[in-house]
Amino acid sequence: MNPGTYYAASAGPAPARPALRGRVDAHVCVIGGGFAGLATAIGLIERGVRDVVILEGETVGHGASGRNGGFVFGGFSLDNARLLADQGRDGARALYGLTRDAVDTIRRRIAQYAIACDAIEGGVMLANWFDDDRILRRRQEFMAREYDVHWQLLSHDELGAYTRSQRYAGGLLEPDAFHFHPLKYARGLAAAIEHEGGRIHERSRVTRIVPPRTPDGGHEVHVEGGSVHARHVVIAGGGYLRGLSAPLERAMLPIATYVMATEPLGDALAGSIPGQAAIYDTRFSFDYYRALPDTRILWGGRISILDRGAEPIARLLKRDLLKVYPELRDVKVDYAWGGMMSYARHQMVQIGRLPDGCWHALGFGGHGVGPTTAAGELLADAIAAGTPIPAAFADYGLDRVWGAAGRFAAQMTYNWAEFKDWLHE
Ligand SMILES: Cc1cc2nc3c(=O)[nH]c(=O)nc-3n(C[C@H](O)[C@H](O)[C@H](O)COP(=O)(O)OP(=O)(O)OC[C@H]3O[C@@H](n4cnc5c(N)ncnc54)[C@H](O)[C@@H]3O)c2cc1C
Repeated sequence: MNPGTYYAASAGPAPARPALRGRVDAHVCVIGGGFAGLATAIGLIERGVRDVVILEGETVGHGASGRNGGFVFGGFSLDNARLLADQGRDGARALYGLTRDAVDTIRRRIAQYAIACDAIEGGVMLANWFDDDRILRRRQEFMAREYDVHWQLLSHDELGAYTRSQRYAGGLLEPDAFHFHPLKYARGLAAAIEHEGGRIHERSRVTRIVPPRTPDGGHEVHVEGGSVHARHVVIAGGGYLRGLSAPLERAMLPIATYVMATEPLGDALAGSIPGQAAIYDTRFSFDYYRALPDTRILWGGRISILDRGAEPIARLLKRDLLKVYPELRDVKVDYAWGGMMSYARHQMVQIGRLPDGCWHALGFGGHGVGPTTAAGELLADAIAAGTPIPAAFADYGLDRVWGAAGRFAAQMTYNWAEFKDWLHE
């Protein structure tokens, strides 16, 4: 098996960016070069705030953003029915609408900054694992009625144009969604930020933030060997945030999920996945996968508190693949990797400002490509124009997750849901 991720192997060389050395000044310092940090920085630049410095502990897109499934679609990790119950119809529509706008913002940025990121406008398909037509019909009616979002219901036979698997009873297509190479997109955003005057330092892990000493003063953001003095600080460290901000880390569960890429299948791919849609299924512990332009299958699934190595991940996911496509028994796995997501107890994103004045964008979980972009827009508006963060986000605060006990509880919840999927089946 190859080391590293398929994305890193196929993205081409990345430009070398210097670590921060010495003291620099900036209007805004963003901590984290994932989608949340990059979206905030480009959002600021698009609003005329160019004096932005990003500090990334590893390299741009090193975290979840450069190693995810590549699904770009509406919604949050929090289930749409829960969002509706929490916010009522208007509130839920407004929040969901931010993520739909974000999908369009990503499309616009790909075009505007000429980001070559293998975007495939094939939609996202929810395939029904269970032999019960009502599941998808109810979901379709619910989304149309409550969110004014229109997904297309497909029978088992119609689904055959997208997947030849006999595993599924039907499908629900989200046509306005697409999928892409997330690391190429992250690097493309980083290049756009630098081209427009922003600065990015890699291998610059932030170890300490000293809040302003006077109301008009700036924050001091320290890395080993340097510091940024900035009026505003945005913390966007995702599931990789450690030892920097107690209130944020107390409220965040770092949870792993896994991905693999098969060898190229050539013409055989169309015998299993003839369509262009990215696919996931109706179980709580669903598979998510898509065909890549070079005829590999990128396959993801499972969540765990364990950060496993490549070989065990490949074994687990190959087993899952064969439940859906038994004909791919002899296919080799070329790459397998894991990534850390940040989850809040309430499963909703956490966007806001800490008492010390630092802004934050965390808790995107396993459904973060759209929501990180939405968060970047909200934070950019807040910092550039003083626009308040929508009040609804205050309902999803920094609830404590209780460290190892919280992680154990999350694992048990997932195992229980897996068991319920099995019973349902
Ligand atoms: C395997 C996998 C598959 C997924 N699939 C999908 C999908 O298909 N569609 C979807 O919508 N979502 C998906 N997600 C979720 C999505 O990728 C994340 O929600 C999103 O990328 C989170 O972005 P982020 O910027 O918050 O975090 P990250 O991308 O993790 O970025 C955080 C960055 O902060 C840096 N950092 C942390 N601490 C510091 C520090 N002290 N100093 C400097 N830098 C620091 C890290 O090095 C990292 O680069 C998936 C996630 C994973 C892991």
